[in-house]
Amino acid sequence: MHTTSRLALAIALAGSAGLAYADGSVNIYSARHYDSDQALYDAFSEETGIEVNVLQGDSDQLIERIKREGEASPADIMITVDAGRLWRAEQEGIFDTVDSDVLNERLPANMHHPEGKWFGFSQRVRTIFYNPETIDPEQVDTYEKLADPSLKGKVCIRSSNNIYNQSLLASMIEHHGEEGAEQWAQGVVDNMARDPEGGDRDQIKGVASGECDVAVGNHYYYVRLLTSEDDAEREAAEKVQILFPNQDDRGAHVNVGGAGLVKGAPNHDNAVKFLEFMASDEAQELFAMGNHEFPAVESVGVDDVLASWGDFKKDAVNVNVLGENNPEAVRIFDRVGWR
Ligand code: FE
Repeated sequence: MHTTSRLALAIALAGSAGLAYADGSVNIYSARHYDSDQALYDAFSEETGIEVNVLQGDSDQLIERIKREGEASPADIMITVDAGRLWRAEQEGIFDTVDSDVLNERLPANMHHPEGKWFGFSQRVRTIFYNPETIDPEQVDTYEKLADPSLKGKVCIRSSNNIYNQSLLASMIEHHGEEGAEQWAQGVVDNMARDPEGGDRDQIKGVASGECDVAVGNHYYYVRLLTSEDDAEREAAEKVQILFPNQDDRGAHVNVGGAGLVKGAPNHDNAVKFLEFMASDEAQELFAMGNHEFPAVESVGVDDVLASWGDFKKDAVNVNVLGENNPEAVRIFDRVGWR
């Protein structure tokens, strides 16, 4: 049976082009690293007989590599997380347009690039976390309220070089303009409980430990803590409440994990088949559930923890906007001294 072969791609990259260009394979450069992704590739191979070769790496490194390899690049598909990174890849010119009825019908229009340069296949929500013993949920039920002076010294949020925060600020620019977004960012900086440190998980743990009362993080880090095999992590998560912001107006800020067809893909048709497979019920479940994300195809089920939260309202803005506003977001972070 065809199984995913890193060796095959390694050989191909070393110069024996035969393997990578052979009919019946597709070469994926992926900046997403979850164990479950292997099951996804295997399912595709089983269904289509197309062998999947995977090269893993950091998003920016993969973009550089594709550019460096140029026309000789074996890359057919690039997978990465966050619309800001997908946008960056598109700006670097590495994606080709895909016009597929399957993708256009299955995926919500706001979850992919307007011209089909890349597609969001899973949804992640940037949520607010709070200590229910010290915070009334009404104090923190919008992103805007994170900048309210009443939260001075109470907010934990990671550094501004993180793309998740850049995309959140990009959405604030979209809804409040540059000036409004800058005022908001300044207000959040003024409310920080500590200088930004650690990842999203550390912000949630900061609420549990009492270092802060409110935190911001992607929802799936909370699920990972809730379902952790480490007792201390589960206990920490249980002290913290999750909240989906802005339910009375635009909805919670949503981002995507996604993929695009690489320009000049040697296995073009197989690559399009792979993208279409990604929108299937089976692939949607595997891609989303592996990281406790929400499938992009709304009719596909979610895992138990997510299901227990019920429905919530999501910001309907096209996720490409998060990339378009990224450079301004980075400048604002700089101006307000958000480290
Ligand atoms: Fe993440």
